[in-house]
Amino acid sequence: MRTSWGSASDRGRVRDVNEDALLACPPVFLVADGMGGLDAGAVASRVAVEEFARLAGRGSVGTSDVLECLDSAWTRLREELTGDRQGGTTVAGVATVVDQGRPSWLVFNVGDSRVYRWADGVLHQVTADHSVVQELLVEGRVTPEEVARHPERNVLTRALGTGRRPDPDLWILPAGPSDRFVICTDGLTRDVPANRIAELLSQEPDARRAASALVAEALLNGGHDNVSVVVVDGGTRADGADGTQPAAAEARALPRQRRDAPRPEGPTAAPATPPARSGRHS
Ligand code: MN
Repeated sequence: MRTSWGSASDRGRVRDVNEDALLACPPVFLVADGMGGLDAGAVASRVAVEEFARLAGRGSVGTSDVLECLDSAWTRLREELTGDRQGGTTVAGVATVVDQGRPSWLVFNVGDSRVYRWADGVLHQVTADHSVVQELLVEGRVTPEEVARHPERNVLTRALGTGRRPDPDLWILPAGPSDRFVICTDGLTRDVPANRIAELLSQEPDARRAASALVAEALLNGGHDNVSVVVVDGGTRADGADGTQPAAAEARALPRQRRDAPRPEGPTAAPATPPARSGRHS
């Protein structure tokens, strides 16, 4: 599948270091938001990117490739993050795959980084945050307006490297003629509302300029966190010309733990630390 892309990352206006990392290398595009003590956050996000970078240059990948990258990153993090260096990372991304003979997008997520699909002028959030506030929101115990000020807004329910085996959500989306994805860390969604993200996407047909514009908007609105964005354009239309497009196909969620073999828990698989943020901006 033809793709073009752009990416941008900034440490923001509050943090001293950028613990986000990103990968934009066909057939895989992702962001990782590291967290933890000492330099554990930066290590964790870098390890995730390094493991997925092994897929770079391949024509397409399968679900098992993505799961293997998450597993190998998790194994490395267990080896590298010891003692006071406890931490983990989110991973959210998109890979081009062939599903049932059709060119498709595989969306994957662990944590509260996000993947949005922008099609026919509508922004749709594909991923669901693995966070305490998301669960409270689904249960109707907090309102969307209360989320931003909730004391547990930074507490994750799933992350990579915090003890448990990787437990990603996965979706398959058949490719349309012309699709656009936004992959971002929470530094974007914290400072830029969804309607403004959609507005900027509609104004910037070029993926590189769109990614830069989104990061610039987050900085303009305070840059309270590291912010990273990958914008991916692609689809089945070879020439990429504008024109009438059919509506985007529906995403199909894959069942959790889709594996060929049982996954025994390791002897030290219990979480050493809860999958929480480092709390620097609580
Ligand atoms: Mn963040």
